[in-house]
Parts: sequence; structure tokens; C-alpha cells
Amino acid sequence: MKKPLTLGIMGGTFNPIHYGHLVTAEEAFYQFNLDKVIFMPAGQPPHKKDKEIISAENRYLMTVIATASNPHFTVSRLEIERKGPSYAIDTVRELRRIYKEDVTLYFITGADAILEILTWKDSEKLYELCHFIAATRPGYSLERFRKLHLLPENDSRKKKPSVFFMEVPALAISSTDIRKRIREGRPIKYLLPDGVASYIFKYGLYKKASL
Ligand code: ATP
Ligand code: MG
Repeated sequence: MKKPLTLGIMGGTFNPIHYGHLVTAEEAFYQFNLDKVIFMPAGQPPHKKDKEIISAENRYLMTVIATASNPHFTVSRLEIERKGPSYAIDTVRELRRIYKEDVTLYFITGADAILEILTWKDSEKLYELCHFIAATRPGYSLERFRKLHLLPENDSRKKKPSVFFMEVPALAISSTDIRKRIREGRPIKYLLPDGVASYIFKYGLYKKASL
């Protein structure tokens, strides 16, 4: 009998993608014995009203460049091609339709994102359709996730997310910091793959505060 597929979904704005995202996805692949990790650049991130978000096509292409050398990483266009805000529930449902029932889905997030999942659209339905992997991220304490995971018994939300915690080597890298460095002419080398940095410089991305 064929073994059911186990997929990781690495969602993000990837504005731009950096080593924090890549290390987290690789560690989840290893620790959770995943068959592959699908990077899912958001078309329109629902929680970010940021003027600094560059086009979905550029974010997608940088994600392809960053993941090209890894045979078990792929990049999906699902969210960038869907109209309207990119909700995780729609993506997970679509992946379930594509892969049928024979798939276990792990949604990979950093500590900051996992703290917000209760506020995500249709969160209780989402909990039935996928597990979550919460990766440590500098500045966000594990204690806070554990509290979220262990919602009090009398909490009106009946369903709890299935969250697995994962330690990744602490990387204080963020896209916000990378964008700021570019604006200020400071180095970004070693924070993200060289190919992504070359793409950014080639097209003059992130030079102005609002694009
Ligand atoms: P921004 O600063 O613009 O918010 P970001 O660096 O947080 O960008 P996102 O695209 O928002 O990147 O993040 C996508 C996912 O990757 C989120 O779940 C986030 O928590 C996680 N992530 C981002 N950076 C790291 C990191 N350094 N270590 C672990 N997880 C990370
Ligand atoms: Mg972020």
C-alpha cells in the first residue's frame, strides 16, 4: 500500500525570503519526516496592510530562486493566483482537493504567526484540516505558545489546534530588517541566498520606503 503523503506548507509574504524561512522549513522537513515542503507566497496577506509589499510575482520568483537547489522544496502559485486576501483555510482546502484525503498537512509557522492563529479566518475548521508546527523565533517566548496551546478548559472555543513545537537555531533575521538595510545601504549578504540578493539589486527592489 502506498504511504500517505505528508506535506509541509511554509506560508509567508516572503518580502523577501531569507535564511530564517529556509532553515525553519528544512528543520521541519527533517524533524517531521515530511515528503516535501511547499512554499506558499501570499498573494494578498490578510494581516499586512503594508505599502512595502512588492508584487506577488517578484516575491514568488525570489522564492523560486531561494529554493531551487533543494530537491524537497517546491513553490506554489495557488495563493498568488487566487483573487482577494490569502486565507490559510482556502489554501488548505484547495491542497486537500488536489491531494485527496491521502495527505497529512503540517502548516509551518514562526512563533509570531502561531500566536495569531486564533484570529485566522475559520480557525476552528482549519484545526480539523491540518496540524501546525511552531518554530522558535528570537523575541517570541515558547511560554506564550504553550499558553495558547493549553487553552483553559472553560474556553468557549471548543476546538484546539494541534500544535507541535520545534526548536530552530535562533536566527534574528526578518524581512523587515532586510528591507530597512537595503534602504539604508547596509549589507544584506549572508542574511539571504546570494541569488535573491542579486535579484533585488538587479531590479532595484526595496529602495524606497513605499513602493
Ligand atoms: P516581515 O518582517 O515582513 O513580517 P518575516 O521575516 O516575518 O517578514 P514572513 O514572510 O512574515 O517573514 O514570515 C513567514 C513565516 O516565516 C512566518 O510564519 C514567520 O513567523 C516565519 N519566520 C520568519 N522569519 C523567521 C525566523 N528568523 N525564524 C523562524 N521563523 C521565521
Ligand atoms: Mg512576519
